[in-house]
Amino acid sequence: MLENAGYALVIVSNQSGIARGLFTEEQAQAVDDRVIELLAQEGVNIAGSYRCPHLPDAPVAAYAKICDCRKPQPGLILRAARDLHLDLATSWVIGDRARDIVAGIAAGCRTVMVSPSPPRHDAEVLNGSQPEHFAHDLVDAAGFIIGHAART
Ligand SMILES: [Zn+2]
Repeated sequence: MLENAGYALVIVSNQSGIARGLFTEEQAQAVDDRVIELLAQEGVNIAGSYRCPHLPDAPVAAYAKICDCRKPQPGLILRAARDLHLDLATSWVIGDRARDIVAGIAAGCRTVMVSPSPPRHDAEVLNGSQPEHFAHDLVDAAGFIIGHAART
């Protein structure tokens, strides 16, 4: 739906399992590649996929750091926008965690949270950063964004 409406689709994820030593960056890349391949088989093209492998005080020293890319920091979104020449002001971040919404707003995007209501455990992390819509699922999120674009 979103691709047909002209949006580039980008995956932005925290993968602290790399810093925790649960899996390697290569393994995370292999999962990414497979997901992108499966989506492509369904006619969905992912323009880019970005991950943060870091975590402060993590056991894998190479990834144990305070970075600017772990959401709620907006670094991955900013990097994607630079690489893919995306206009952040007309871009949307869809996420299921408060940190996704905070990162999206920090990057200058509009946001939709996939959650029927402000999730209690995440509510205080939102800290005033409200998504424009709480969606029941990704289809609802896409419908809201496309409808919103049609209204403005
Ligand atoms: Zn990072």
